Amino acid sequence: MAKRDYYQVLDVARTATEAEIKKAYRRLAMKYHPDRNPGDHEAEERFKEAKEAYEVLSDAQKRAAYDQFGHAGVDPSRGGGGPNPGDVFGDIFGEVFGDIFGGGRARGGGRQVFRGADLRYELPLDLEQAVFGHTAEVEIATLGECGTCDGSGAAKGSGVKRCDTCNGVGQVRMQQGFFAVQQTCPRCKGRGQIVEKPCDGCYGQGRVRRNKTLQVKVPPGVDSGDRIRLSGEGEAGRNGGPPGDLYVEVAVREHPIFERDGAHLSCEVPICFTTAALGGEIEVPTLDGHAKIKVPAETQSGRVFRLREKGVRPVRGGPTGDLFCRIVVETPVNLSNEQKDLLRRFEETLRKHPDRHNPREESWLKGVKKFFENIGP
Ligand SMILES: [Zn+2]
Ligand SMILES: [Zn+2]
Repeated sequence: MAKRDYYQVLDVARTATEAEIKKAYRRLAMKYHPDRNPGDHEAEERFKEAKEAYEVLSDAQKRAAYDQFGHAGVDPSRGGGGPNPGDVFGDIFGEVFGDIFGGGRARGGGRQVFRGADLRYELPLDLEQAVFGHTAEVEIATLGECGTCDGSGAAKGSGVKRCDTCNGVGQVRMQQGFFAVQQTCPRCKGRGQIVEKPCDGCYGQGRVRRNKTLQVKVPPGVDSGDRIRLSGEGEAGRNGGPPGDLYVEVAVREHPIFERDGAHLSCEVPICFTTAALGGEIEVPTLDGHAKIKVPAETQSGRVFRLREKGVRPVRGGPTGDLFCRIVVETPVNLSNEQKDLLRRFEETLRKHPDRHNPREESWLKGVKKFFENIGP
């Protein structure tokens, strides 16, 4: 059965105040209470329905979520218990759901509560740390609840009194042409309360700048741009509002050997021209050790060898990537006179059968010659 609209259930306007909602609920609860209607199944359902509606609409944060997203925003079966801050891995996937509550300002019937701001922190990681996972310690500057006044903003011994301008509601009604609009109370800034003597620790703000150190568990396989959400580790809320979240964004540093493209890794492997000509076995680095490649005789520069599953196992699942090794034949440098002599003699033997030993060079030269003949006089 489709759920009825909560405002309809309580028979109140969408702009109803906290007091109006409470009154409506009390009336329905009295009418449909099971003690008063023994055996009446219909009454029991009505009672449950009203109770559920009241639980949502009487909570400023849940009400805001309901106003914005309807039943989906407050459905307890969708994991409304709040993400577990330790479950960092899951949070990568939980962002979408978490954002439902990230609406910022919650519109309650009573005084306004403000969710704390989200924070972003860029976490530089070495490629190895990103690939194999890492626990990083990050220090962030944030706004935390003031310890002196426990967030109330009032000095010890001094009280808070109700704001007269808005009667403690935190909002005032302003007439604008035909419309009456609700606005945050200019005097108490939506708190609904006036602090008699501000706390020295936070100058009455209830929040103070604070550095905090957090352990961030980075799951293996992350890449630049991946975000890890630490629920509730953002700025403290105001007026008892919930804290924001901290988003740790991974930035993988350049690696001296490997380039990464998603799950695949690649690297350049310089080899001596004699190995390239004669063939041989070479050792190549992998992220966690090394592997061997059999280079066949007559290997040219640019040839790529693929080492299966020597790449990255992606954090979101899927097949492990490969490692691509690109061969670069290195021209020897700093040759002695004796070595140069050997090469000259070796070159002479090549020149006897250029078509045979340097086919690419030869066909290229022929192509160039033809080109000049065609454009010639
Ligand atoms: Zn304080
Ligand atoms: Zn006020």
